[in-house]
Amino acid sequence: MKTRLTLIYIIGIILTAGLILVSCGEEKKEYRIGVSQCSNDDWRNKMNEEIEREILVHPEASVEIRSAEDSNAKQIADIRYFANNGFDIIIVAPNEADAITPVIDSVYRSGIPVVVFDRNVNGHSYTAFQGADNEKIGVLAARYASNLMRGKGSVLELYGLKGSTPAISRHEGFRKELESHPGIKIEASAYGNWKYEDALHLADSLLSVYPDVDCIYAHNDRMAVAASDAARRRKLDPYIIGIDAAPEIGMKAVRDSVIDATFLYPTEGHRLIKTALAILKGEPYDSVAKLPIPSAVDLSNADILLIQNESLKEETSKMKSLKSEIDQYWDRHSAQTTLFYVSIAFVVMLCVLLFFILRAFWLRKGYQETLLRKNEQLASQHEEQKRLNTRLEEATRSKLMFFTNVSHDLRTPLTLIAEPVEQLAGAGNLTPSQKTLMHIADKNVRILKRLLNQILDFRAYENGKLDVNLVETDFGALAKDWVEAFSNVARSRDIKLDIKIEDADLRLAVDEEKIERVVYNLMSNALKYTPANGSVCFSCGREGDKIFFSVCDNGPGIKEEDRKRIFDRFFQVDRVHPKGSGIGLSLTKAFVELHGGEINVESEVGKGSEFKVILPVVHVGVGTESSVAGTDHAAIEAELADVETQEREFSEDKPVILVIDDNEDIRVMLEELLSDKYNVVGASNGREGIRYATRYVPDLVVCDVMMPVMDGLECCRNIKEEISTSHIPVLMLTACSMDEQKVAGYESGADGYISKPFNSAVLRSRIENLLENRRRIKNIWGASHDRSEGDLSKPANGSAERRIVSTDVENEFYARFLKLVESRMGDADMNVDQLASEMGLGRSQLYRKIKALTNYSPVELIRNLRLKRARHLLTTTDRSISEIAYEVGFSTPAYFSKCYREAYGETPTELRSRL
Ligand code: ADP
Repeated sequence: MKTRLTLIYIIGIILTAGLILVSCGEEKKEYRIGVSQCSNDDWRNKMNEEIEREILVHPEASVEIRSAEDSNAKQIADIRYFANNGFDIIIVAPNEADAITPVIDSVYRSGIPVVVFDRNVNGHSYTAFQGADNEKIGVLAARYASNLMRGKGSVLELYGLKGSTPAISRHEGFRKELESHPGIKIEASAYGNWKYEDALHLADSLLSVYPDVDCIYAHNDRMAVAASDAARRRKLDPYIIGIDAAPEIGMKAVRDSVIDATFLYPTEGHRLIKTALAILKGEPYDSVAKLPIPSAVDLSNADILLIQNESLKEETSKMKSLKSEIDQYWDRHSAQTTLFYVSIAFVVMLCVLLFFILRAFWLRKGYQETLLRKNEQLASQHEEQKRLNTRLEEATRSKLMFFTNVSHDLRTPLTLIAEPVEQLAGAGNLTPSQKTLMHIADKNVRILKRLLNQILDFRAYENGKLDVNLVETDFGALAKDWVEAFSNVARSRDIKLDIKIEDADLRLAVDEEKIERVVYNLMSNALKYTPANGSVCFSCGREGDKIFFSVCDNGPGIKEEDRKRIFDRFFQVDRVHPKGSGIGLSLTKAFVELHGGEINVESEVGKGSEFKVILPVVHVGVGTESSVAGTDHAAIEAELADVETQEREFSEDKPVILVIDDNEDIRVMLEELLSDKYNVVGASNGREGIRYATRYVPDLVVCDVMMPVMDGLECCRNIKEEISTSHIPVLMLTACSMDEQKVAGYESGADGYISKPFNSAVLRSRIENLLENRRRIKNIWGASHDRSEGDLSKPANGSAERRIVSTDVENEFYARFLKLVESRMGDADMNVDQLASEMGLGRSQLYRKIKALTNYSPVELIRNLRLKRARHLLTTTDRSISEIAYEVGFSTPAYFSKCYREAYGETPTELRSRL
């Protein structure tokens, strides 16, 4: 996706770049020049040709020429057209100055440069002016006429348009020059309006009035030809002089002797274009250019001029065709250039495309290779796993085999133990404590026996060696008998047992022993996992051709993920604190399946579970006797019931031991084992243990490591951190002998470690050891106030012993206590309650703590401290005995002396007299 976007992005850039290049190739800077001619005569055509010829050599410029055809209105429209269509400069030959000046003025003021030529405007609203010196032409014409007439004669003048500036100047020049030729006289001047027809009429009428005139001076060639035509009609032959010398009229008329001479009025169109471009490009130019006037054209040079003109025309047309060819080439070149750039862009695009295609290809190939490698890896891992699985299965098989063999071997000795134990447990001459111990042994031997049988049965089932011994039974009656056997256990645990047996035909053939074990297992599970005040129900009935029975309880329920696995062998939901071996349900299932039946479980966490067994009804013939003995109620109770603790008294002279273990049997056994020498308090989990430890401040704690609610390590840590219990030695009990666990135990502050199963003698001696140790420590602490009385806050004999003695907590606790006593030394009312509350402990906690640390009760300790201080004062000061007695907090000196004598075997007076 990302690659595709990048590709589109790059192609876009290339196309844009290509288009920019192409458009750059085509771009030309162009000046647009507009030329407005006032009329459309031969002279102006010549000029237009010159303009177009000049523009050929300026590719950067283009020109559009418009002719007003002697109309002011059209010329105004033409100028406006140029101004409104983006022309860069306007060149104007105004038709009439008065009419055209305003429009030129407004265009010029709008910022468009204006070049005026040939005729002028009023004012100076233009950028440049180009024109010939018309007055000079008038002067030359006058001299020429004077020459022709040899200084004597009369002249008719055909005037141009009235108000036209060239006409006025041509007249003025002519008139002024003739003033220096007195022999020549202007007979008449009349307006021919530059036009042939007007001039023809005018000349005709003038000639009718002045038939003898010697010369006619016309302001342009058209009027001169008209005058010639008029004279010829009247058979007159005056000299005729024209102006302009345009090739098609003037020159031809001279060559054909229609008129006698004409004066070249310079056109110089090329010069106009040069001036316009100079203005546009900001180059220097003449703002007023007066063109030079060449000499007259007469018969002597007219021919040559015409020929020159023709060849010029020819050259121009050649140039034009050349130009159009160049233009064509240029167009073609531009098209090709465009094509070239487009092709380059296309090629670049193709290359980019190719690059991405190749890249995608390589990437894909790379991915495929990685995938392939991964697949291979997976395959080899799979193989490895298969191999490991086989090895695991083999290992499991041989383990199970070993297990089975061991179980077999254990069965015989176990049976040999079970029997005597059972007998001993029932013996009447046992002490209550011996009875308890025997009960524990009996219960656990039974459990062990059942476990062994289960394992062996299960192995037999797995190996297909388990037989089904079907006998006809009345299932209802049997089941009732089996389940009722649990009623005592249920009662003792405050569990309501509900038995519902349908009143239907419940006869079928089953292997009684196996089905009994199924019922037993489901019932004992239900009772095991249902807490006190819960309920267990057994129901049994018929569903079509099948008989069912179900055991339900309102215990903790089983999580869905566990539900799928509880029928697996050795599966236990709670592996940390198992209440069984995890084999019961798998064997149950096996037995049910042996009967062609099925077992299902429905359960909801927190609400309870229901196990339902469905058995097909089969018969094996009437009369077969039941081969199994009736259910042994006593045996069930012996196995499931809790062992009762025998009542004992707490005696003051024995040390107190707190046993923390979640296994009731172990707790009871330890209590029984230790109760002869110790007072034993039991707690079933860490939290309860901590509570009891603070309440009783025992002399030693025996604590299991793995326990529910709070484990042994945390419990130990808590005991060691709590000031009132920190001095108590803790002995950890664990089923695991791994070193790491031991390390963890010691880290949590444990003083010793004993692995389960333990030997009671070893346990006793470890306990005794720890207590002895403690006693030694006590003596050291207790003796601490015997040393020099200077500083009471440190235990005696520093060094090695001190190291065993004091943890930091202890040291700090003891130092605080001594400081407190010292500060109140003089207070005779100082009592233990006050001291305990100041130390943040209860009275009895302080009592036990101080007793545990020093072997003295707090009162004794305080009294000793007072006496030590007194002895110190008696020996080092001169103060009186009574003074000292009050100072160390005795209410009367007499009582002080009495106590002192008891402690040191002499009275203070005797001590003083001795010194
Ligand atoms: P065990 O001998 O350990 O009880 P079982 O195979 O009989 O082994 O049971 C397997 C697991 O199923 C037990 O560990 C227990 O967690 C769970 N379980 C069996 N019955 C119940 C029940 N009625 N209520 C809650 N959990 C049960």
